[in-house]
Amino acid sequence: MSQEENRSFLKGEKMARVECPKCKSLNVKEVEDKSKVIAYFNHVPVYKKKIVCKDCTYEWYPDEKE
Ligand SMILES: [Zn+2]
Repeated sequence: MSQEENRSFLKGEKMARVECPKCKSLNVKEVEDKSKVIAYFNHVPVYKKKIVCKDCTYEWYPDEKE
């Protein structure tokens, strides 16, 4: 892989733009739902991710369609 290719590979696309389904705010953050363990890696729990809107406090799971 050339340097050029490597750079564009690393840039990639991070997280798609996430907006609150309720108030359409982009002021959201991804947090771990500590009540939902989805897997264990080397005995370390992996928590389900959820998105919290900092404007209206609405919470939802990014991988679940309503
Ligand atoms: Zn919101």
